[in-house]
Amino acid sequence: MSQTPGPRPDVLTDPAVESLLQDTTPWLSCEECFERMDTYAEAAVHDPQHLDEAMTAHLRGCSACDEEAQSLIDLLRAS
Ligand SMILES: [Zn+2]
Repeated sequence: MSQTPGPRPDVLTDPAVESLLQDTTPWLSCEECFERMDTYAEAAVHDPQHLDEAMTAHLRGCSACDEEAQSLIDLLRAS
C-alpha cells in the first residue's frame, strides 16, 4: 500500500465533516464504519483524491474493519 500525500480534498471543508472531526472521539463506531464502507471502498478505487478522514482513522485503529475494507477494495478492483 502506498500513501499518496497531496492537497487536501474539498470534502474536508464540508461542515458535516468538520463537526465530525471536531468531535472528541473522531473515530466512527464499527457500525457507522460498516454503513460507510461501500462508499469508502468505491471512492478508494474510483476516486483516489477522495479522503474520508473519519474512516481512515477508524480503519487505522480497527483491524477488523480494516481487513473488511481492504477485501472490499480488492473485490472492487478485481471487477
Ligand atoms: Zn471497526
